[in-house]
Amino acid sequence: MILRTCLLAAVAAATALPALAQTGAAPTRAERAVHESIIVLDTHFDTPANLSRQGWNIMDRHDVTVDGTQVDYPRMVAGGVDGGFFAIFTPQGARTPEGDQKARDAALVRGLEIHEMVAANPKQFEIALTPDQAIDIAKRGKRFVFLSMENGNPFGHDLSLMKTFYAYGVRLMGPVHFLNNDLGDSATDKPEWGGLSPLGKQFVAEANRMGIVLDASHASDGVLDDMLALSQAPIILSHSGSRAIFDHPRNLDDARIKALAAKGGVIQINAFSNYMIAPVHIAERDAAFGALMRKMQAPGKRTEAETMALIAGRREIDKKWPVPRATFDDFMKHVLHAIEVAGIDHVGMSGDFDGGGGLDGLDDVTAYPKITAALLKAGYSKDDLAKFWGGNVLRVMRQAQALAEPTR
Ligand SMILES: [Zn+2]
Repeated sequence: MILRTCLLAAVAAATALPALAQTGAAPTRAERAVHESIIVLDTHFDTPANLSRQGWNIMDRHDVTVDGTQVDYPRMVAGGVDGGFFAIFTPQGARTPEGDQKARDAALVRGLEIHEMVAANPKQFEIALTPDQAIDIAKRGKRFVFLSMENGNPFGHDLSLMKTFYAYGVRLMGPVHFLNNDLGDSATDKPEWGGLSPLGKQFVAEANRMGIVLDASHASDGVLDDMLALSQAPIILSHSGSRAIFDHPRNLDDARIKALAAKGGVIQINAFSNYMIAPVHIAERDAAFGALMRKMQAPGKRTEAETMALIAGRREIDKKWPVPRATFDDFMKHVLHAIEVAGIDHVGMSGDFDGGGGLDGLDDVTAYPKITAALLKAGYSKDDLAKFWGGNVLRVMRQAQALAEPTR
């Protein structure tokens, strides 16, 4: 457990806060027009974690350098973002009946908060359950909200709960997060099952049966291999990277990117600094970060004053022990490599915003038109961009939903 705690602290510790350096060219008017003309979606918004922050309202425009947040309605509009998958994330707790129940309850509350956010802003947001609904919502000028789950621990050992979350609107589910659980192995934990557990294999069959897309981000290579072998529908990785560009277990090697594409799947490249470039560890910095985190309550219990104290504390640590932060150009290397290996039909992106994502030059959703500009400059067409920004993921959803049993 000490090892695991250290691992998690290290994952977070070296991620520097936003700096002033910016990379990536601003889009021209023509590039911006292309961006506005296509469906732009992000497959992993951790923004629901902010919905319970005191005084935080998704309808206000925030500043990442002030409150650390990266997605809200005004910034989605500014970034030409039509919608995305709003994640119900539950940290991996104890694998006991009590731990399962805690995760289940936390996930139900988080899902409720997403529905409340949409209900409170019916002119700006609408829940989408299918690709056609998302496209229709975007045409009407609103942002579509798909629900997803990051970590399958809310199901505990009772996969019938998947039906409850399906009824809640969840259409994308990943089995694991930073640690192994009873469904399978995590990319960032020691092998326990060697892939999916027997229950994890049932989880795949259930997701297929209901038309829920499987998400292999955070899953070990073994789990991804099992999913590719067992799933009837293509799968996606909602926020991952290219291992050939930076060797990290959260990233995918070329053979697996090819295998994913061969089954029709999609890898969505994330903007998480420590998965883009090698993090630099300074012992004093990591220790200071650990000490700061120990003073804080768990994210869901933190008061707004504590959140702001955490941001101020991190800023001080960054100033005292600066470490390199990945840039927009580093991110583009991961994107272009994945496209080279898999083809444009099998790559997209997610900032992993409000969940640890953010790079110099790509620090909130307002930067997304720069990605369109970079891909157009690299020779990709408007049709290619439409696939990259949403078409590929919507195609996978369509395939998964077409295979679902009509009765569910
Ligand atoms: Zn994640």
